[in-house]
Amino acid sequence: MLKIQNYINGELVAPEAGQYLDNYDPSRGTVYSLIPDSDEKDVDRAVAAAKAAFPEWSVTPKDVRSNYLLKIASLIEANLDKLAKAESIDNGKPLHLAKTVDIPRAAANFHFYGTGILHYAAHAHSMEDTAINYTLRQPVGVAGCISPWNLPLYLFSWKIAPALAAGCTVVAKPSEVTPMTAYLLSEICIQAGLPKGVLNIVHGLGAKVGAAITANPQIPVLSFTGGTKTGADIARVAAPMFKKMSLELGGKNPNVIFADCNYEKMLSTTMLSSFANQGQICLCGSRIFVERPIYKKFKADFVEKTKKLLVGDPLGEKTKIGAVVSKPHMEKILSYVELAKQEGGTVLFGGNRVKMDGEFSEGYYLEPTIIEGLSHNCRTNQEEIFGPVVTIMPFDTEEEVLMYANSTIYGLASTVWTENLTRAHRFAANLHSGIVWVNCWLLRDLRTPFGGVKSSGVGREGGFEAIEFFTEPKNICIKLK
Ligand code: NDP
Repeated sequence: MLKIQNYINGELVAPEAGQYLDNYDPSRGTVYSLIPDSDEKDVDRAVAAAKAAFPEWSVTPKDVRSNYLLKIASLIEANLDKLAKAESIDNGKPLHLAKTVDIPRAAANFHFYGTGILHYAAHAHSMEDTAINYTLRQPVGVAGCISPWNLPLYLFSWKIAPALAAGCTVVAKPSEVTPMTAYLLSEICIQAGLPKGVLNIVHGLGAKVGAAITANPQIPVLSFTGGTKTGADIARVAAPMFKKMSLELGGKNPNVIFADCNYEKMLSTTMLSSFANQGQICLCGSRIFVERPIYKKFKADFVEKTKKLLVGDPLGEKTKIGAVVSKPHMEKILSYVELAKQEGGTVLFGGNRVKMDGEFSEGYYLEPTIIEGLSHNCRTNQEEIFGPVVTIMPFDTEEEVLMYANSTIYGLASTVWTENLTRAHRFAANLHSGIVWVNCWLLRDLRTPFGGVKSSGVGREGGFEAIEFFTEPKNICIKLK
């Protein structure tokens, strides 16, 4: 059985304690590889390597750093099939999605920051003929990057690429639930000739490896994507150490559908924003609010289309819904369906585990699920479920639906469907979320600020914001006479 290894100081190495964890194939519910059960000692080794590499990497000319990132991007592209298959098996997501979204986006992340760093210019502030101030942007040091399981390589590279481009060296931890493509990335980095110690990947549990990265005093900057509770745990440890922090956390995103929308476009996109990646995208719209005049029609059409989504083997060509990522996660999602029923909800479709035949009989498959009849403030509509489960609710006025949309502790992303331009601008401005999509969903320009408000996070990723996050501004004031 394949034993995944840590990537420390340019080499693939076993965890110091020699302990491994089981890595599950969620489509079959079986163990298919082993992952290092690393601990603080492995993190210390990785931090020492990153610290030793920092002085040289931080002054390596930008075009040289850029070349390494572009080489990594090209190698990801060249290994598209292998990486997509690995991601699909490790995570349970349909192969098609991994091939068209996850892996191309991972390559794009390296490409984007590999070129972006060449175009970044800091500010200068002239005090006429008295003095000139300029802002020197210097890499912060060793960056700690911790990422979740839902878009494994996509989100891992979204942190690593800007950190490396900015001149930081990195100690990174992918989710223990989906370590495979991070391991394959370490092989790619070796192939690309990335100098040793510049990127270090330590596999293992959040409570051990993630906590050791968070608490390590040699790591002054932390970029984390994951659940809101974990983000709070990290902030509790890192804030008194005055670490720079970017926290991309959970969401409970509203999808607001006005009666004047382009109905067909709205319906096909809402299928994706509800169920893509089994609903395990932090940007999925899990609370669907529909203006009353079209509510009945929407309900009938949405249920009809959802019934046709094929649940099955993630590697299957026609599969639309693969397996959810793990058994505990599947059980959590099912517990929310039960909660919704207790809260008075009616399951219009789904709500059950799907038992497949043969080798897939123990896989973690769930029906895409639509629930109605719940109030906007019940637990089902307030807490993140992070699975193929959505609720639908009618509304009558703009004021009412704005209140519903803004009523959770979260504020990551929102989607609005209307052909009324004035309303689109007004409503978007009033939504409490970091991202608003109008008449679209998941349309991404990597230059734009990405992140949430309220309990969905602190800070922004994307574009030059990430370069600025991984660098420290220093104002230098030069008197001119
Ligand atoms: P978790 O918060 O459980 O884990 C995220 C990462 O943190 C994992 O690598 C995990 O390791 C690690 N971790 C766990 N505990 C600690 C700790 N005490 N200290 C440091 N690191 C720790 O999230 P999930 O992996 O379950 O991901 C799903 C969540 O991520 C959802 O809430 C989703 O909304 C959010 N998310 C947010 C996005 C955004 O951009 N805002 C994008 C994508 C997801 P391990 O896996 O080993 O536990």
